[in-house]
Amino acid sequence: MDCIFCKIIAGEIPSRKVYEDDEMLAFHDIAPRAPVHIIFIPKAHIASAAEITSENSPLMGRILAQMAIVARELGLDGYRIVTNCGESGGQVVFHLHFHLVGGEKLPRFL
Ligand code: AMP
Ligand code: ZN
Repeated sequence: MDCIFCKIIAGEIPSRKVYEDDEMLAFHDIAPRAPVHIIFIPKAHIASAAEITSENSPLMGRILAQMAIVARELGLDGYRIVTNCGESGGQVVFHLHFHLVGGEKLPRFL
């Protein structure tokens, strides 16, 4: 499958890994929009948040829990978690991912 994040998981494209286990991977965003900008992905190819189901949602909870651990380890006192969903939602890479953004006072969005 021609998916850039699946290629990162497979090691075919290099990444600066932050965390990895058998079901998820976290790596630094290649074009950070804040001092801390880390991408968390499930290793299973799920196209977007629109494909979250009752079957795969426990994994989403574990990803969010791991994001909290990484944020704590980095000493972030606040941060934002974002998932862009679909073209209108600003999604560019169609492998579900959660952005962890912080390290500065973030501008108000929502
Ligand atoms: P989105 O717009 O939500 O689909 O976000 C995709 C994100 O992936 C963007 O923030 C990109 O900077 C990031 N990205 C794209 N290619 C890579 C890569 N090879 N390594 C790390 N991050 C990437
Ligand atoms: Zn993929």
